[in-house]
Amino acid sequence: MTPVVADVFRHVQGQDAALGLLAAALEAGRVPHAYIFSGPAGVGKKTAARALAAALLCAAPRGPAAPCGECPACRKVDAGAHPDLLWVDYVYQAALLKEEPEKQRSLKIDTVRRAEASLRLKPLEGRVKMAVITPADALVEAAAHALLKLVEEPPPGTHLVLITEEVGALLPTLRSRCQRVRFSPLSVDALTRILTGDRLDAAGDDLARAVRGAEGSVLKARALLDAAEGLRFDWEGASLSELLAWGEGFQNPRLGRPAAERFLEGVLAQCQADVRAGTRDAEDLRRVFESLTRLRRNAAVSLTVQHLLLHLRRAAKKRGEAS
Ligand SMILES: [Zn+2]
Repeated sequence: MTPVVADVFRHVQGQDAALGLLAAALEAGRVPHAYIFSGPAGVGKKTAARALAAALLCAAPRGPAAPCGECPACRKVDAGAHPDLLWVDYVYQAALLKEEPEKQRSLKIDTVRRAEASLRLKPLEGRVKMAVITPADALVEAAAHALLKLVEEPPPGTHLVLITEEVGALLPTLRSRCQRVRFSPLSVDALTRILTGDRLDAAGDDLARAVRGAEGSVLKARALLDAAEGLRFDWEGASLSELLAWGEGFQNPRLGRPAAERFLEGVLAQCQADVRAGTRDAEDLRRVFESLTRLRRNAAVSLTVQHLLLHLRRAAKKRGEAS
């Protein structure tokens, strides 16, 4: 099997200074209980948080800073499904409020309180608990003060990572109590490696142009590529088999989270229609919904889509359809 989390570490490449700090803390067994990961969008802050979580939660690490990438804990971290890793973000808050994630504009005090309540429970599977608060600059003032209390008196075995593009927008007291890890814009070389999955020879003109225009951000580079490669798909009119054929493209690491979400939303709509028509098991629908939820909870994009496609192909085989 591919070591998934080793992949995660690889995808944070181009951030040697930041990763060096994290690795040194892990090696020394002295991981601060609160970090701030700061830097522009799309340069690996969340990926690094996921890698840190894997290092802290892995059941069979090859070293203090080397999660195995294969054990159930590593896989759950990568799939956004580890019970001891809490992503305190708009998706989390929307679920608490029973609202749409898109409608969330700030992180509220009740959200921080709910997160704190779960952090005060014992870890369910790992040795520690970790919460990633993102975007931390969206905390309303009361929420920031509640978080400050948590940072000052964390429950034992708790790790907090605050992610922000605007560190200046955080409470000064919060800033001073967390260790800051700076993420910088990625170099052209690092961006190219990430988007080609290390196959530099596979970089075409579109990719080279996107990388040059991306200002060091994977997000921007993917958006530029998305446009350049004509990946704007006819989501409304596509049949499920067309969608699934398109989804095979997610083996390609250049495709980003927004495209993956559009894809899964399309598959979800088709599956709903099939279930209503009685031509598909409700189990398929449940799996699609679960994948979409995981993706919105920061699961690794390619892994999530590939797992779902595998399930749908198996289900089609069982029904005796040609896939
Ligand atoms: Zn592991």
